[in-house]
Amino acid sequence: MNPEFVRTICPYCGTGCGVILRVEGGAVVGTYPDKGHPVSRGTLCIKGWTAHEFIHNPDRLTTPLLRRGDRFAEIPWDEAISLAAEKLAALAERYGGDAVGGLCSAKCTNEENYLFQKLMRTAFRTNNVDHCARLCHAPTAAGMAQTTGSGAMTNSIGDLAGAECILIVGSNAAESHPIIMGEIYKGADRGASLIVVDPRRTTVARNADIHLRINPGTDIPLLCGMMRHIVDAGLHDRVFIQERMDGFAEFKAFLDTWPVEKASRECGIGADEIRRVAEIYRQAKDAAIVYCMGITQHACGTANVQAICDLAMLCGHIGKAHSGVYPLRGQNNVQGSCDMGGLPNVYPGYQNVSDPAVQEKFQKAWGRELSPRPGLTVTEMIGAAGKEIRALYIMAENPAVSDPDVRHVLEGLAKLDFLIVQDIFLTETARCAHLVLPAACFAEKTGTYTNTERRFQLLCKAVDPPGEAKGDFEILCLLAKALGLDFSYRHPSEVMEEIAALAPAYGGISFDRLTPAGLQWPCPEPGHPGTPFLHEHTFTRGRGLFVVPSYTPPYEKPDEEFPYYLSTGRMFAHYHTGTMTRRSPFLNRELAEPYAEINPEDARGAGIVAGDRIRITSRRGTIVTTARITDWVDKGCIFAPFHFTEARANILTNPVVDPICKIPEFKVCAVKMEKERHEKQER
Ligand code: SF4
Repeated sequence: MNPEFVRTICPYCGTGCGVILRVEGGAVVGTYPDKGHPVSRGTLCIKGWTAHEFIHNPDRLTTPLLRRGDRFAEIPWDEAISLAAEKLAALAERYGGDAVGGLCSAKCTNEENYLFQKLMRTAFRTNNVDHCARLCHAPTAAGMAQTTGSGAMTNSIGDLAGAECILIVGSNAAESHPIIMGEIYKGADRGASLIVVDPRRTTVARNADIHLRINPGTDIPLLCGMMRHIVDAGLHDRVFIQERMDGFAEFKAFLDTWPVEKASRECGIGADEIRRVAEIYRQAKDAAIVYCMGITQHACGTANVQAICDLAMLCGHIGKAHSGVYPLRGQNNVQGSCDMGGLPNVYPGYQNVSDPAVQEKFQKAWGRELSPRPGLTVTEMIGAAGKEIRALYIMAENPAVSDPDVRHVLEGLAKLDFLIVQDIFLTETARCAHLVLPAACFAEKTGTYTNTERRFQLLCKAVDPPGEAKGDFEILCLLAKALGLDFSYRHPSEVMEEIAALAPAYGGISFDRLTPAGLQWPCPEPGHPGTPFLHEHTFTRGRGLFVVPSYTPPYEKPDEEFPYYLSTGRMFAHYHTGTMTRRSPFLNRELAEPYAEINPEDARGAGIVAGDRIRITSRRGTIVTTARITDWVDKGCIFAPFHFTEARANILTNPVVDPICKIPEFKVCAVKMEKERHEKQER
């Protein structure tokens, strides 16, 4: 039988690389890079090359499962859908619609996310819809929307290769976004200055011209020190500020409170080095700032993003090609799931649920009365489980591994009257469910994803789902029908038409326009070519706004009992909660087990050698993992990746949240560490 080749999109990170799936005998047997893809242009990282390896894994869910005591029993679909609808409707009837919450998914398509939030908002009249964007880039949406009017990457990935200076803050892009890192390296090869700000000596930092190894959580002091020097030296872009910005006088007064020497003391970088880096960034003709979760996952994450935007606007490095601000989105469709209204305060296209005119528009379109009250966030819903929240419907999210203070998450899930989890594997969260619905993976469905540079791209079905598993689109339509809603969509393209009609920024997007090049929003009408970079003549909000960033140091500092800083993050071979990558034989050959990085001096002091089993304990719990001794982490710091269920780093992390966007402070908490004596004795 001749193989078939299906052009589609990688299921892992927000870069959204083009892949070609090789299908033989109804199975996907290989993944190849797509030379015609505008971002990846014939390249893939190790995860992309192996994206087919989990698809036919025998652990895939194939039938609905109902909890009976401490076991699951297989049940037919009609019974599962009726039960889900009856339970959710009964709990909403008894406790009110706001007693039901839902998590949509950064792994599902735009159309599926649109349907999910529409179902929650119309069936239960609640805005309790959120997803894991809360845990990675909620500060981007909040901080950039305030300063520029749009919470999205300002430019295109390809622009990075043409920048003269690339400032990377809190991102190990070489491991988390390797194809984007390729564009950054291209820029460096052409002579761009590469400056990395990170407490950890990452792969990116090792390849930088300058590595600023700041104290954990001190990005704002560093950025304010840089901006203070730029203003003191008269280097700020006066014309840009005059013509396009508001709030400069107040902002300049605020910078007076950050003399460079004070910034230096706080962030641990020499004052002259701060001045040097500020001048390199300012004096480049085109300069880009790339950031990721090292910036966002702090209790002052929104302020961190505001400070980054302030710096770009102070120097006029925004609103033109090869410049701008580049938040690197984590999951493949985290941009799209936010765009589609998978958030408690906005409908699709970031239209505010509390705005009466917007509410009226959606009520008219959807034919149902809607709630004007913003809903709860992920962490708020889990915190309210068993109290205000009685039922949760979770689509392809895994908070039992991804959320902070996992022990508290598991306690919350256990208190729910009814928990539905819809996923492709029996995840750690699905194991807590009353009802599990088996879903299709990326290779088994059609729809669109939006990558980190706002590019809508077509996802194409290559094979059927296993057993009786169904696509999320079909499951949502069945459940909506059982709840009395009219979701009579025959194809995701019909949902896209509805999205285009209701959200102006996507008004020109339709399935038949989506060639492999995709379309970057804003794309307001049919025929519009899409927008490679934002804010060219005017900011989305009109004039740009300098916002004073409110700095709060890390909530937990090392002390006598917990003497180390712990930071968590990603590594190249695995992805998010490991649900897919840990079922890839090739990726498991690269790395099969959890580990923690410890500085050599700290290891010596604690009598730990490489490969020792160690216990790491925070105020919330303990994990046991394997020591890796390396100078990647500074003395007094420990790093642990969060992909591993057997040593869930998020058992340790601090659930304290940013007051504006409610992201938890994943990046910094205080821990202690000791050798695992018990296991050592047993050997
Ligand atoms: Fe997939 Fe991201 Fe790797 Fe591209 S960079 S192949 S999208 S995991």
